[in-house]
Amino acid sequence: MATKKASQTKGLEDLFYDGLKDIYYAERKILSALKKMAKGAESEKVIAVFEKHRDETEGQIERLQQVFEIFGKRAQGKTCPAIDGIIKEGQEILEDFQQAPALDAGLVAAAQAVEHYEIARYGTLITWAGLLGLKNAVPLLEQSLKEEKATDEALTQLGEAGVNERAMQKAA
Ligand code: FE
Ligand code: FE
Ligand code: FE
Repeated sequence: MATKKASQTKGLEDLFYDGLKDIYYAERKILSALKKMAKGAESEKVIAVFEKHRDETEGQIERLQQVFEIFGKRAQGKTCPAIDGIIKEGQEILEDFQQAPALDAGLVAAAQAVEHYEIARYGTLITWAGLLGLKNAVPLLEQSLKEEKATDEALTQLGEAGVNERAMQKAA
């Protein structure tokens, strides 16, 4: 009988653990990015959305620690190149649009890309947690997904509430 490579024995539990480590790494990166974006934004409304979600993100990190515990594994992060890239784009907006009328529109768009990544990840993790019978993990992940979706919606509304319009002005 041919011996299997280690990777050939990997199943849904391994995928779930990897996904959990990915979003745990991502959430911690997002926490520090939101702090920077809140400091860099111009409009009070935009700052308020970033600050509210910064606080929620702290809670999401704690929820993930609970999910690791329910899963019976140590809480640890695994580099997420996707979130590193998305955050880098936001950082570029901060640098390249300093004091520009388009700054906030760019930051809102960058933040929305973050939320969409998180929505994709949490959606998958919820499904897998259910399949793995991690009943107590599901509502924790669902609560975070709900917050990501609400933030995405709030960001859309910021765009519609004048942030994009302001960006259409040319700087004097
Ligand atoms: Fe989050
Ligand atoms: Fe990732
Ligand atoms: Fe988020």
